[in-house]
Amino acid sequence: MTQTASKSYRIYDWAGAVLGALAIGRLSLLLVNHIDVSVFSIFAALIAGLLVADLFSGLVHWAFDTWGTTKTWLVGPIAIRTFREHHIDPHAMLRHGFVETNGHNLGLAALPALAGVLLLDSVAVWNAWFLFFVALFVAMTSQIHKWAHEPSPSKIVKVFQTFRLIIPPATHRQHHVGAHTGAYCITVGWLNPLLDKTGFFRTLERAITFLTGAVPRSAHVCSTKIMSPER
Ligand SMILES: [Zn+2]
Ligand SMILES: [Zn+2]
Repeated sequence: MTQTASKSYRIYDWAGAVLGALAIGRLSLLLVNHIDVSVFSIFAALIAGLLVADLFSGLVHWAFDTWGTTKTWLVGPIAIRTFREHHIDPHAMLRHGFVETNGHNLGLAALPALAGVLLLDSVAVWNAWFLFFVALFVAMTSQIHKWAHEPSPSKIVKVFQTFRLIIPPATHRQHHVGAHTGAYCITVGWLNPLLDKTGFFRTLERAITFLTGAVPRSAHVCSTKIMSPER
């Protein structure tokens, strides 16, 4: 990878991190003035936000594992490459710093957070709380995924993993055995059994193949050829 490309990735990661932090921070400040909803409502928004973030993590992960190549326009070098390399060297992410790990997801999380900021006055407050939790859990997903690969995470992370409030290593390992064709959700993993047992992703693949003729995993490069120097 050229120095220019490496610098572009750093700018991309930092831009995502700053944008996401600002959007989530802004929505948090606005919601402080809207805590006049019941604790039950906020808890319901938290669970709904967590499930949506979990599903989103599964869909994004499945899409980048299944379709396209590292040369696909835009998403190839910045996203597909990361997912494919992770299958070859799952521990490479442990060498990444905070911004490199989380910049991409923080950037994605800015979208629901900004939607919450813009819609807060025009939609029910519950929706803004829901968007806040979607943004929060989307923002945390890469870090949670990284923790699932840590040989010895901190005690508090272990507690969260033990109670399955974030995806535990044993649950995520199911994705890394075999052909990487299941257990795609990496936020909390609660949806993995349902999506895998119902054949959700295989049905989606058949539908896409029927509509476009594209063959899932046809462009997989399962060799060290796609490995490139650290970003
Ligand atoms: Zn994968
Ligand atoms: Zn992994």
